[in-house]
Amino acid sequence: MYEPNENSSEPLYVEDSHLKEFDARVVKAGPKFVILDRTAFYPESGGQPSDTGKITYAGGENSVRKVMKRGKDIYHYLDGDIPVETEIHGTIDWEPRHWNMRRHSGEHLLTGLFENRGSGPKVYSDLERLDFKPSELDEETVREVEAEFNSIVDEDIPLRIFFASREELDVGDDARKREFLAKIPRNIDRLRMVDIPGHALTFCFGTHVGSTGEIGRLTKLTLSTAKKGRKIVHFLLEQAP
Ligand SMILES: [Zn+2]
Repeated sequence: MYEPNENSSEPLYVEDSHLKEFDARVVKAGPKFVILDRTAFYPESGGQPSDTGKITYAGGENSVRKVMKRGKDIYHYLDGDIPVETEIHGTIDWEPRHWNMRRHSGEHLLTGLFENRGSGPKVYSDLERLDFKPSELDEETVREVEAEFNSIVDEDIPLRIFFASREELDVGDDARKREFLAKIPRNIDRLRMVDIPGHALTFCFGTHVGSTGEIGRLTKLTLSTAKKGRKIVHFLLEQAP
């Protein structure tokens, strides 16, 4: 997924998906919420759920129950109030975030592997499911993708994350990528690219693992056909890679 690069808070999670703690200042506050000048808490978007965690400050501590982007602001919903201008220390609940991150990067890799085999385009995906338009996608292809996915995990290939402007992006005559690019609002020029070299390249502002080994192997990959011939793939990763 992509999102306009317009946040009132500096989104620390864009530069470093492995940042677990950070210091910041409250710039806006209301009943049980704060907006910070910078944050490592990932707001719910692009099929990736909100982070949770805690915020500590001189004289107090609050749980962060949900983080959501509304307009340009990233709202941290708390179990109490914190006054504006307070200097805070944020800590992400790392275990659920890392699990989400691994599954999200896995979703990228699977999408690439399926689409490279002509089983696309993808019309929906989340952290455990991919939906493709009707195609020839069959059980044999699913087993091939499963084996390739696991061998790419074993190879531990580093992900490449970079920014590109619309003009710099050469999609050539790839109809799928051209179509994808055309869907992005014209006012968004700086696109964050997430590349699993040789396998999957797409625009995305989500949080990602550093290399394919961190994703972990698949423990489940199943195919079913829904109404109107839509192909649905369910996937699950091993708990600890
Ligand atoms: Zn992504």
